[in-house]
Amino acid sequence: MPSERHENVFRYFEGRCSYGGKRLTMYLHGEYHSQGWELDHGNPRAQGGSDHGMNHRLACFACNRFKGANTSQWWQYRIREYYDGRCPTWRDGKPVKKH
Ligand SMILES: [Zn+2]
Repeated sequence: MPSERHENVFRYFEGRCSYGGKRLTMYLHGEYHSQGWELDHGNPRAQGGSDHGMNHRLACFACNRFKGANTSQWWQYRIREYYDGRCPTWRDGKPVKKH
């Protein structure tokens, strides 16, 4: 189950991925699932991003994994360019990565 901090981020973003708007399921936090989600550090920790609220975003599992240690701007550009601004779709239990 998500921690209180994670729940707060989930509620702040109204349960939708902050990148592609996909509706997510609270109890699927951290799950490899099309409605699973993670707390994203918009500006990645690896690049000096903070661990404070302002830098936290709600991201579906696929967005967060494909974004990796890149910035929000990078992923937003890609999602517009390759995914019509929506979260990656899932097929056969896997998020579909486009190039
Ligand atoms: Zn997403």
